[in-house]
Amino acid sequence: MAAIREIKVDVAVVGSGPGGQKAAIQAAKLGQQVFLVERELELGGASLNSGTIPSKSLREAILDLTDFRERSFYGKDHPVPAVSIDALNHRLAQVLAAERAVVMRQLRKNGVHWLHGVASFTDPHTLEVTDGEGQLVARIWAKQIILATGSRPRHPAGITFDGQVVVDSTQLLRIGRVPRSLIVIGAGVIGSEYASFFAALGVPVTVVDQRDHMLPHLDSEVGTHLQGALSQMGLRFIGNRRWLTVARVGDMARVEVDDGANPDTHETLEADVVLCAVGREAQVDGLAIERAGLELTPRGYIPVNELFQTAVSHIFAVGDLIGHPTLASTSMEQGRLAARHALHALARPFPEVYPQGIYTIPEISFCGATEEELRDRGVHYEVGRAYYYEIARGQIEGADVGMFKLLFHAETLEILGVHIIGRAATEVVHIGQVAMTFHARLDFFVETIFNYPTYAEGYRIAALNGFNKIPAR
Ligand SMILES: Cc1cc2nc3c(=O)[nH]c(=O)nc-3n(C[C@H](O)[C@H](O)[C@H](O)COP(=O)(O)OP(=O)(O)OC[C@H]3O[C@@H](n4cnc5c(N)ncnc54)[C@H](O)[C@@H]3O)c2cc1C
Repeated sequence: MAAIREIKVDVAVVGSGPGGQKAAIQAAKLGQQVFLVERELELGGASLNSGTIPSKSLREAILDLTDFRERSFYGKDHPVPAVSIDALNHRLAQVLAAERAVVMRQLRKNGVHWLHGVASFTDPHTLEVTDGEGQLVARIWAKQIILATGSRPRHPAGITFDGQVVVDSTQLLRIGRVPRSLIVIGAGVIGSEYASFFAALGVPVTVVDQRDHMLPHLDSEVGTHLQGALSQMGLRFIGNRRWLTVARVGDMARVEVDDGANPDTHETLEADVVLCAVGREAQVDGLAIERAGLELTPRGYIPVNELFQTAVSHIFAVGDLIGHPTLASTSMEQGRLAARHALHALARPFPEVYPQGIYTIPEISFCGATEEELRDRGVHYEVGRAYYYEIARGQIEGADVGMFKLLFHAETLEILGVHIIGRAATEVVHIGQVAMTFHARLDFFVETIFNYPTYAEGYRIAALNGFNKIPAR
């Protein structure tokens, strides 16, 4: 039996996703000795191995290999080129290998040590690390501990996931074939993104959700736009329905759903594959948090204060483990901030204004309030819009589906919300984000020269449209 390593460090980090990586690197940059523990053989967490990077790589591969961006010039009836799973996987493998190399290089460059194994507390300062067989390989004593163990797909009771026909979002990446047809249960971000990718690929896709439209947290006008674009791609959305049974029957997936209007009537759907995307849950099993004196919130997350500090003052937690907003982008910053707080380095609070990107086809991004939120709060607001067909860049690139929507205070003109659907939305949203961070007013966009032709010019067109709606000043 190999000797058990006894390790004493300043900072131990559990989990190598975006939260753990940035926490470890920040702590190392502050001159601390840092040890990171990761359960999987590959570093990078869900973000790199089963979530953000694979899904976005798949999206780009589908857009390129199906000539999706060309289609608007040739009409809806232009046939979708057949794309093999090998072609998709070839590209995916290259991106993942390159990104993994970047993660390793960054950790190495900053002197972060890492260890493969499952970490669990034995007391508030000590973690035991076991290997795949459950054998103890190391014991780590750390002054400060940062937990970043992320999340995994929720598996509702009553559904048997077989990894081939009935799958979650992690398993979907490994089915080794392009499904001939797909049912997606759950029209949240992950379900909607994958549904749109496969619809773009020409796969018949049906999305089922108990709510009446997809992505209900969106500004509803943007949501309507999305749904229109998806149904033009042939995607079928069945809202106000609950799944009753999900099962593999022979080689097919069979899903029974109730009828929202008539609960006694059931509809049976069949497809090659069913993706269950009904939320994610924090990954705490194996950590033995009770031995550290920690408890979970009723929803299963680790509670933290605004410094990302848990109820035990030297233990911090970040990323999906602490719940909303559960994004790679925010987890990274939480990790960096947690390390700074743990080490008493100067740190600003977590930003109030940050964007969310949803990589459906078409993509969506927003920051700030929705129109519904402003209405509920009784804010005196106005709206400026620019449609992609009005933006020269959109015409040039065949991106005629999309909209910029700027929400601003009708008296002060301060920008209160930026919502974009359409090509490059997740990039150009940052202009609005910066403007909002500095409390910019609508006239900033009217008086600013943008490169022409660009998508960013949409800000100016939307601002001019908004300006026309307020009394002359
Ligand atoms: C399909 C999909 C698409 C997504 N797309 C986006 C997107 O476009 N943009 C975006 O910002 N976010 C996206 N996300 C969300 C993003 O991936 C997560 O928010 C992010 O990965 C969370 O980072 P994290 O550091 O908290 O944890 P994770 O990335 O989940 O990493 C946690 C790590 O901890 C390890 N671990 C767990 N327990 C232990 C233990 N006891 N001991 C040792 N190691 C342990 C795990 O093996 C894992 O590697 C997506 C997620 C999914 C599933």
